[in-house]
Amino acid sequence: MTVASRPHPQAIEFFPSDLFEEDRAVMLETIRRIGLAPEQRFILGAHTRHFEELLRESLGAADVVACASGTSGLDLILTAMDVGPGDEVVVPAFGCAPLAASVVRVGATPVFADIHPHTMVADPDEVERRITGRTRAIMPAHMFSVMADMPRFVALAQRHHVRLIEDSAVAQGAVLNGTPAGLWGEAGVYSFVQVKAGGMPGEGGVVVTRDADIGQRVRMLRNHGQDGTRRFVHHLVGSNSRFDEIQAAFQVHRMAGLAGRLERRAAIARYYTDRFSALAEHGLVPPPPGSDGRCYYVYTLLAQHRDALRAHLTRQGIACHVYYPQPLPHQAAFTPFSRPGDQWPHAERASARILSLPVHPQLSDAQVERIADAVCAFAHQ
Ligand SMILES: *Cc1c(COP(=O)(O)O)cnc(C)c1O
Repeated sequence: MTVASRPHPQAIEFFPSDLFEEDRAVMLETIRRIGLAPEQRFILGAHTRHFEELLRESLGAADVVACASGTSGLDLILTAMDVGPGDEVVVPAFGCAPLAASVVRVGATPVFADIHPHTMVADPDEVERRITGRTRAIMPAHMFSVMADMPRFVALAQRHHVRLIEDSAVAQGAVLNGTPAGLWGEAGVYSFVQVKAGGMPGEGGVVVTRDADIGQRVRMLRNHGQDGTRRFVHHLVGSNSRFDEIQAAFQVHRMAGLAGRLERRAAIARYYTDRFSALAEHGLVPPPPGSDGRCYYVYTLLAQHRDALRAHLTRQGIACHVYYPQPLPHQAAFTPFSRPGDQWPHAERASARILSLPVHPQLSDAQVERIADAVCAFAHQ
């Protein structure tokens, strides 16, 4: 074994490898209880309903519908809104694949809008510039540490008579001006893939909505277009995007600790931002300070010498990630949808400079300090 490949003695993981360890006994007991229950119900049963209802109440939503993933939730919303061939949906040029792929899957055309240079979420002016007579919906996403400017997107959607979908997959628990992420738009999603804020050991998600009609349509669409009272009566062309009962019971159990875990993430992020706020002249820009409209699925900063910073942190055993190395319209899958002559300079700049640091709630204070020290040492070298 070479020296370079030996694990660092104090390695800090980007996502902890023991995410659910403290709930192991509950998980095992849940598997046994549901696995041995006489009704043998493993999907869309009383646990899923209970989980949906708890979330709905805590959010003040009209409906919450559990489904197979965040990605599937976006598909269900677009389908419920009848977005399809001939329609355009404006999405951010910088973000994850489901933003564009969900639009393509329903037969509509994604139109990529550039992002705000600092917060790296869709810029309302850039979205508005791309609205045409064919635009059916706009779909901003919260992705890094700051939520998209939802008050302006709400106004935009009203002014141009387009639907407003919110990709809030990573923003469970984030609140802007008193309104939770997911409820600014007509409908939004949360993803429960393990590393997301409300993650679980497996795949799942929810559609959250303030519109009961959308909720009802999504509820049918996730289960082959059936209405839940009668089987084999198909009102809509749906799909299979159902939710697991064991995971639902586990999520109900985990909900009590969610606020504490989110608060720990926010405290770590505040500490980083404090430590990094004076580093701009050294080419390092943290997210803007503040707590309203913040989500800390990842903590992202912009670094002029990003790859050197990444190498520096890796040498010290600190794992970091680049979300995302390429703007969406530059991906082979989506270049066919990028408009000739359209440009996304801020998305390009962000993909060259963005770096995410560990911000998961299991980090100890000492680890958080070590990460901040390492970043500061790089900036000052
Ligand atoms: C994770 C994520 C999704 C997709 O959620 P899955 O549950 O993984 O399908 C969608 N949008 C954003 C912004 C995400 O980060």
